[in-house]
Amino acid sequence: MNQYEADKLYSQIYYDYPKYRMGLTRLAGILYAIINVPDEERSEFYDIGCGRFETRDVVGPAFKVCRGYDLPNVVRRLGYPDDMHQIMGLTHLHMSDNEASVVGCFDVLEHLPPEDIDAALAQLTRVARNRLILSIALYSHIFEGTELHLTIENEKWWTEKLAQFPHHKLSAHVAQKTLWIVLETPKSPEARSAHDSACHCTNLRD
Ligand SMILES: [Zn+2]
Repeated sequence: MNQYEADKLYSQIYYDYPKYRMGLTRLAGILYAIINVPDEERSEFYDIGCGRFETRDVVGPAFKVCRGYDLPNVVRRLGYPDDMHQIMGLTHLHMSDNEASVVGCFDVLEHLPPEDIDAALAQLTRVARNRLILSIALYSHIFEGTELHLTIENEKWWTEKLAQFPHHKLSAHVAQKTLWIVLETPKSPEARSAHDSACHCTNLRD
């Protein structure tokens, strides 16, 4: 599935199935990760692949700026037009390096084909100035006869993918067949400069 097909599929699903949305269990996990964000990091929060943007009302108030991003037709068909913005896909984000203090990407990566995962992780890490928070479903999801999870892998596979960002501090745990990851950018000036000269996330602009 390419990004054009994904745009068509997900905008249709969101339009036809009001119940295709983030559940309270997932929202609770996100809140748990957000509680641990220190005050100095509560400037911009970008939810990339925001869907119906359920994080807006619960996470948004904890940040100065809260924006959701999703594929063009998804954004057009859902609400919150002032706060939702279009992206052409996770592999080519148009945002600047370090643009958002905190980037969230919840239950999105498993919807990408395996060959897009490295590029998507590199883009998300590039945009996140202080931390990237991910939730990744580790199970199959067949919806109306279509497998929506194109990449179904275990915790080891995903954490090995994240080893390409060795300067970042990785925390990971699995709860209810979902992998939660927090990737923090180094804070000390020494670690930061080692990171800036070597990390895969810093040299990606097209
Ligand atoms: Zn990096």
